[in-house]
Amino acid sequence: MVRHVIALDVGGTGMKAALVGDDGALLHRARRATGRERGPEAVLAGILDFAAELRAYGVEHYGEPAGAAGIAVPGIVDEATGTAVYAANLGWRDVPLRALLADRLGVPVALGHDVRTGGLAEGRIGAGRGADRFLFVPLGTGIAGAIGIDGRVEAGAHGFAGEIGHIVVRPGGAVCPCGQRGCLERYASASAVSEAWAAACGDPGADAADCAEAVASGDPNAARVWQEAVDALADGLVTALTLLDPRTLIIGGGLAEAGEVLFQPLRDAVRHRVTFQKLPTIVPAALGDTAGCLGAGLLAQDLLTATSTTPEVST
Ligand SMILES: [Zn+2]
Repeated sequence: MVRHVIALDVGGTGMKAALVGDDGALLHRARRATGRERGPEAVLAGILDFAAELRAYGVEHYGEPAGAAGIAVPGIVDEATGTAVYAANLGWRDVPLRALLADRLGVPVALGHDVRTGGLAEGRIGAGRGADRFLFVPLGTGIAGAIGIDGRVEAGAHGFAGEIGHIVVRPGGAVCPCGQRGCLERYASASAVSEAWAAACGDPGADAADCAEAVASGDPNAARVWQEAVDALADGLVTALTLLDPRTLIIGGGLAEAGEVLFQPLRDAVRHRVTFQKLPTIVPAALGDTAGCLGAGLLAQDLLTATSTTPEVST
């Protein structure tokens, strides 16, 4: 008998799952396609089936079913009611995912927002381990953020907290799908850098990783494109750290894979901008694309901890 929980991270294209032991060990891992081309209902059915199979796997291999489940999904998530409010890439509106999954599995379920859940894992067991206040900012297709406070991640009153990608850093600048102009993610996401470098070097297939490589090899054209992204990012991050005063700033996502090509100029750019603010430690994310799944496992384990320490709560 091995006590464990189910962790599930649902992305736009793929789902990552794991059975996580009491000690945090990944006992079993699985992946499959989200299948969004089959429509929102089929995606939902696929998630519930996947979770049920993971439950069965636990019974077969560890002698007991999972004690709880955690699931992370993209879009707008109301963690308090367990509702996937909106996800453009999955076509969801107001899906009571927590209740549906709890019905199917017969155990308590926690629903989390993908970036906040990944941030929870980075803050607790990844790059921010031990930090009481952190900010996790993944630079991917877009830019989002997770505000870590004393072992949990702040969701905000409406589930919108942490949207640092839509802080305006270039007033009147590039139009953003959110309706504003000059948002941070239009300048410093991996997609934005890919776009800027493809235009600058004349190769429509060139991406942010190619740009980072060209910067490292001393290409002045690439250095200019890169610095524009770093400057925009530093502007956005300084706004955030002025407001939140994090101890650790964790930068992840595709752009962070550039390593010191990003971190060295970014630390300089942030340092040059602050006056009275305390500089946080700026570190690369440590968990890569498993952060969401590990965070979902933590959400599930937190449910069990909460249950065992408050036995008077009836359900
Ligand atoms: Zn925006």
